[in-house]
Parts: sequence; structure tokens; C-alpha cells
Amino acid sequence: MSLASIDPRARTPRLNRTVERIRQDFPILARTVHGKRLAYLDTAASAQKPEQVIEAMSRFQREEYANIHRGVYALSQAATDRFEAARGRVARFLNASSADEIVFTRNTTEAINVVAQSWARKNLKAGDEIVLTELEHHANIVPWQMIRAETGAVIKPIRIHDDGSLDLDHARSLIGPRTKLVAFAHVSNALGTVLPVRELVRLARAVDATVLIDGSQAVQHMAVDVQALDPDFYVFTGHKLYGPTGIGVLYGKGAVLNAMPPYQGGGDMIERVTFERTTFKPAPHRFEAGTPAITEAIGLAAAIDYVEQIGFDWIGPHEEELLTEATQALLAIDGLKLWGTSAQKASVLSFTLDGAHAHDVATILDQQGVAVRAGHHCAHPLMDRLGVAATSRASIGLYNDRADIDQLVAGITAVKRILKL
Ligand SMILES: *Cc1c(COP(=O)(O)O)cnc(C)c1O
Repeated sequence: MSLASIDPRARTPRLNRTVERIRQDFPILARTVHGKRLAYLDTAASAQKPEQVIEAMSRFQREEYANIHRGVYALSQAATDRFEAARGRVARFLNASSADEIVFTRNTTEAINVVAQSWARKNLKAGDEIVLTELEHHANIVPWQMIRAETGAVIKPIRIHDDGSLDLDHARSLIGPRTKLVAFAHVSNALGTVLPVRELVRLARAVDATVLIDGSQAVQHMAVDVQALDPDFYVFTGHKLYGPTGIGVLYGKGAVLNAMPPYQGGGDMIERVTFERTTFKPAPHRFEAGTPAITEAIGLAAAIDYVEQIGFDWIGPHEEELLTEATQALLAIDGLKLWGTSAQKASVLSFTLDGAHAHDVATILDQQGVAVRAGHHCAHPLMDRLGVAATSRASIGLYNDRADIDQLVAGITAVKRILKL
């Protein structure tokens, strides 16, 4: 190995980090919608893809594609190497201690369901408590309700304050000797709140509870170190990290994963099968039955390369600046209410306009080329808690710029004019 290849700066050469340059990497940002410049402000629902990801997947399919793990021919072995290298790339991204702690899933939803159907089914019994928070995505609620129905475990949500921050006093009173699992979002998709993850992990550890962190809205905005945060499980979804759909990640501590039974049975996860008895491979392969999303894993690795080349030292301040600017501009609009104003916040602006339905707002914004989401953001319990049926949500990614925010503000002014508010 040459010296250059082990120099970390050589592995991640910095891209030219200006937002104008970065925008050129995303072909879709050059198109128009309804004849207008596209202001894509829905990255929290799914991020757009850079040329680097599109190209890595395309090249693999054109030049290197084969099924993995069983082939003895060169193409299959090379594809296996690429797939396993992608696993290693994810491990480095999260600072996991081993690539064996990275299970590929379809998305966050499947990653949480693996933990529910494998870990929780085996380990929870009637009366055991699962502590969640009021701001969870349905993906981190419904799988636990299914486990509750099967095991008789109890679900206890930690309350939030009106500004969307977590009520830590309530967390301290809820997490106790009956708590077996504490599962929570790192960052809220509906409000942008960054949760006090270290404090929650500490509270859970004090009672020997297992910890799952849903990082779906975190990994694209900040560096995550699973050894420093110390959860048992950390999950995220590829398509919100500028990668493809169809690929997600379940990080689990090696000892925890290897004590879990398989979730699905089939090919690629077994050591030996007879009609009497089957033995399973260790983690991660025991959780990856069947042919995995090979091309998508390679795309995810390319997305991680891309994000790390730009660097969170650039992404963080850039997104923060846009968030601050957009927050000030929205707060200056008469009749607009911002939901989620916690001091610790990332990249999400949820709002309502007096006298307007959130869906009408988003529909009129679309006519102005502004893509925002409207609805309950897969968080019915949170909407109930806030007493609002739906909000419009603008969310910021690394490719957004001032012009996007200006277009959003001008779009909302147009909404008010059209709806005569
Ligand atoms: C998007 C999201 C999910 C679900 O991700 P999928 O890709 O749909 O599985 C779960 N939790 C949070 C916080 C999310 O933002």
C-alpha cells in the first residue's frame, strides 16, 4: 500500500465547497417545475441525488454487476467485494467498531422492525416498559405497538414542551426499573428538534435498558459516532442521505446482534440447512436473507463519500445559516405560526398560516416552483399533542441556497394574496 492511500486527506479530497458548485452536482436542481425555478425544500422526506451517486450505481450495473457471496467467477467476487466494502464504508461513517455491526435493510422502517421482531420479541414480556417520545415517526411507534400486542409490554411516551423540546424531567420520571427499551429519534422529522441523546442514553444505561436511536434525520446533518453515543442500535435510511431508495442501515453492537434470532429465513443467512435443522451465520449476514440491494448499497457508499467530502464542518454551518435566515423571514410573516422552536434544532421549518389549510399552502407553493410537504409527517401522536391537524414543512439540505429561501418567502406571500389572507 502506498503512503498516499493511507493518508486520510488523500482518501477524502475536499470538494470545492460553495453552494453554487454543489448545486451543479444535482442534475434535478437544474429543471423547472410549472415553468418556475425549482426550490426543493423537502429533503426531510427524501434527498435529491448527486451525479456521483447516480454514476456509481450506473457504472456498477454497466460494468461490474453480478450477484454476490456465492459466485466463484471474477465478476461475482468483485461485486461481493464492492458490497462488503460498502458495509465497511457505513461502519466508518458511524464510527462502528466493526463492519459486522452494520446490517443492510430496506430503510429505517425495516431496521426498526428487525429490532422489534427479533430483539424485542425475544426479550420483552408482559409489564416490561418501552419508553418512546411524543415526537416519534410512526416507524418508531407502530412496530412497538405490534410487540405490545404480542407480549403485553407497555408503551410510555416522554412528553415534549410546547416548543418541541423534550421534557427531560418527565424522561427521568418515566425511565425506571421496568424500562427495557428506550427508543427515540435523534432529530425530529416534523419539528427539527435535536434530542438530548447523550442524556437519554445515560438515563437508559442507569437502569440497564436497551437503547435504539432513529437517526433518519440526523446522519445527513451532523457527524454521528456510535461509540461515543453508545446506543445498542442506531438506524437510518439511505434515501435521506443523498443515496438511493431501497437501502437502510441497522447498526447494532456486535454482542447484541449475535444474541438475536434471525428475522427472516432464506438464502445467504445460513451456514448449513437440512430438513431437520438449520444453523445460521453470525451477524450481519443472519439478518440479510435473500439477495440484498447490491447496487443500492454501492450507491449509499458513494453518497457517504460525497457527504464526507463536503464535510459536516461545511454542511452544519451552511444549513444553520439558512435555517436562521428562513426562521427570521417566516416569523416576520403576519399570520404565520412556526411549530418547533426549540433551541437545539436542525433544518426543518414546520408552519401553519392562519385561515389556510396546510395542503392548500403546499399546492399553491408548488405552482411557484417550491416543493414543501404538507400533512401529519407520519407523526399523528405529535400532531395530536400540538393540537394541529397538519402543517406545511420546508426542510433544508446541503444544496439549498438563499434563493430557495427567498422563493419560499415570496411563495408564501403569493399564497396569502391568492387565498386573500
Ligand atoms: C423518514 C423517517 C423514517 C422512515 O424512513 P423510511 O425510509 O420511510 O423507512 C423514520 N423516522 C424518521 C425520524 C424519519 O424521518
